[in-house]
Parts: sequence; C-alpha cells; structure tokens
Amino acid sequence: MTPSTTVARHDPWLTWNATIASITREGPDVATYDLTIDDPEVAQRYRFLPGQFNMLYMPGVGEAAISISGDPASPRQLPHTIRVAGNVTQALANLRAGDSLGLRGPFGSSWPVEQCVGKDLILVAGGIGLPPLRPVIYEVLANRERYGNVTLLYGARSSDGLLYPKQTAAWEDSITVKRTVDRASADWHGHVGVVTALLERLSIPRPEDTVLMTCGPEVMMWYTIRTALSRGLSKANAWVSLERNMNCAVGFCGHCQLGPEFVCKDGPVFRYDRVEPILKVEHL
Ligand SMILES: Cc1cc2nc3c(=O)[nH]c(=O)nc-3n(C[C@H](O)[C@H](O)[C@H](O)COP(=O)(O)OP(=O)(O)OC[C@H]3O[C@@H](n4cnc5c(N)ncnc54)[C@H](O)[C@@H]3O)c2cc1C
Repeated sequence: MTPSTTVARHDPWLTWNATIASITREGPDVATYDLTIDDPEVAQRYRFLPGQFNMLYMPGVGEAAISISGDPASPRQLPHTIRVAGNVTQALANLRAGDSLGLRGPFGSSWPVEQCVGKDLILVAGGIGLPPLRPVIYEVLANRERYGNVTLLYGARSSDGLLYPKQTAAWEDSITVKRTVDRASADWHGHVGVVTALLERLSIPRPEDTVLMTCGPEVMMWYTIRTALSRGLSKANAWVSLERNMNCAVGFCGHCQLGPEFVCKDGPVFRYDRVEPILKVEHL
C-alpha cells in the first residue's frame, strides 16, 4: 500500500447504486452510513486504500466527496461518516437504512502505511478528521507487530464531537489514545485544550523514525506539523489530508486545484513538503 494516485480503474464517471445497510448516529450532525454496492460483480472487485474517498450522489441534489472510513481488508462494507454541511450531506442525512444512493470511486492518494513498517506512528485528528485515518488504525491493529509505538491524538470542540467513543476506547488495548476537547462539559474529566498541546507533551523516543499523519481543519494541521517538526520529526515523514471543494474527483474541472496540485487526484493525502507553500497561503 504505497501512497499513490489510484484513480479508479473503471470508468471514473460511472456511478453505481449502493444501499444503506445501517446507520449509526455519532453526534448531533454526524452519522456513519454503512454502504454496500448493489451489483455483486462490482462489489466483489471493489478495493480501496486508507485515506481514499468516494463521491456519494443524491439524485437531483448533487455529489459530495466522503472518505471511506472502513477496513480496507473488508471492502464489501463501506462505512462513510458524514457531517451535515450543505445540500448533499443534508439530503444524505434524510435517508434511512435500506435506501439507495449513487457511489463512484475510490479516488485519490492514500496514507503511506507500508512506509511505516518498523517505525513509530503518530496520528493527529481533529473532529471529522478521524474517519479518513480510521482505515490506518484497522491496518495497524490487524498487523500490530509490524509497527512500533502507535499513538492517536484526537481533539474535538466538545466531547460529543469525539467520534467512535466505544471503538477508540477498545483501541487503547493496542495503541495509545489521547483525547482532548476545546470546551469541557460537566461530564468531561479529560484533557481540555487544543490537540497540539497533546503533541507537545508526547514522549517521542525516536523522532527520526516516527511518521506523522494528520487530518482535520487546516489550521490544526498546520500547527500540528509545526509542533512535530519542532519535536524532531522530518518533513519527509509528515503527511496531511486536505479537504477542498471538489466536483469531478478526476482532475478535470479544477474546483479543488491548489497551485499545481489537484486535491482529488494528487491528494487528498500529500507529503507535507509537497503542499507546504500552498498551506501557508491563507484563503487559497
Ligand atoms: C477528499 C475529501 C474527503 C472528505 N471526507 C469527508 C467525510 O468523510 N465526511 C464529511 O462529512 N465530509 C467530508 N468531506 C467534506 C465534504 O465533501 C464537504 O463538506 C461537501 O462540500 C459537502 O457537500 P454538501 O453539498 O452537503 O455541502 P456544500 O453545499 O458543498 O456546503 C459545504 C459548506 O460550504 C459552504 N458553502 C457551500 N457553497 C458555498 C459558497 N458558494 N460560498 C460560501 N460557502 C459555501 C456551506 O455553507 C457549507 O458550510 C470531504 C471532502 C474531501 C475533499
């Protein structure tokens, strides 16, 4: 699973019918939709890599890019964790188990999981940034002996924004999980503050052999990278996933173009030094 630009091998414009097998409410505006592709032949050959996304299509409304948050070893179950942001995600939120929607993909580059073998791994996620990293955690858990120390630092505005609470608790048997919230409610007894504060305090015994992967609001990723570099990690070992307004998903329309890079086909996962100049420009 090298990080690569793996545009789907089939016709990338072809939308398949998918059915919602189940829906799990994750928070006030967030739910996870487990999708299955209807055509058994397509379902059988469908594969994805950690960090890739599908375009989900609501007829008469439009399409939205949504990360595949499932286990790449079980590509028949395709969970997508979705926060209501606008028209398409609102229409998706009105669906029920058993309903149909359109799906095309998978698109985009992937997290460099194979390059992490024998290394320590730090995953830093903010809010809805955890779903694109969850496939990495599935891979780590399935092959725990291949990796050194693995740490997930996870932050959200408030405790109800921390996704998959039961699952992240279970992960603590195998990896280190630290959580933080910006604002504590009465029932929160954990850390309060930005996620980079967790990174500042984290023990990093061998920074030269530590890989960082981060996904969340761009400002969070920018401070995360800055902190990681100050702790001795190299730019070559720092990876980000960018979410920009996307339309075609195949590098055609230019909606997600950032300088020379198309987030849809060159990303969404980029080695930090490749997008560093772009991330420094505000409002680009
Ligand atoms: C690679 C990738 C992976 C992603 N993965 C996920 C995921 O796993 N889960 C998830 O929930 N989201 C994910 N997203 C984000 C998701 O694709 C966007 O939120 C998408 O825009 C939602 O579509 P929509 O039609 O519901 O909202 P949109 O109508 O596109 O609105 C989204 C936001 O943009 C604002 N907006 C829209 N149009 C305008 C405008 N003309 N001017 C100003 N503001 C505007 C809206 O007010 C809203 O805040 C991902 C995005 C990318 C690129």
